[in-house]
Amino acid sequence: MALPAQINLEIVTPDRALVSQPVDEVQIPGAEGYFGVLPGHTPLLVTLEVGQLWYRVGQERSFLTVAFGFAEVLPDRVTILAKVAETAEGIDVERARSARKRAEERLTKRVSDLDFERARLSLLRSLIRLQVASRARIRG
Ligand code: ATP
Repeated sequence: MALPAQINLEIVTPDRALVSQPVDEVQIPGAEGYFGVLPGHTPLLVTLEVGQLWYRVGQERSFLTVAFGFAEVLPDRVTILAKVAETAEGIDVERARSARKRAEERLTKRVSDLDFERARLSLLRSLIRLQVASRARIRG
């Protein structure tokens, strides 16, 4: 059977659809690490981590932040059902900087009732947002 030429990529959160288009390649932040998907990939269902997702159309890559959810991979389709996601252009950099500062303060204060995992995940989301936002700036 011939390989599909492209992948139909759908990225949705409970609030909105962010991406719905054919792409040539996707890189997904899965629970077991980042993995790349090309047309014809083996079917797969994975949980998503907090991380950077990119997709490529021709030579151009577009970046998003995703945090938690599921990815369903089929040979000609990838569906990302993310709890939270933003495109690089949709990230509020000041908000992410403030979130990073708050999380860093919580983690360095060593308060006795600190929910360490919650603070760690806040810090991680803010760092990934800042990284993804800087990609948008590089692309101009
Ligand atoms: P904050 O403390 O700034 O709310 P957070 O990491 O706790 O950050 P989330 O719970 O991950 O925020 O997300 C809540 C909602 O706010 C989601 O819809 C998410 O897309 C949006 N959001 C959070 N931070 C940003 C940001 N810096 N730019 C754009 N949207 C954001």
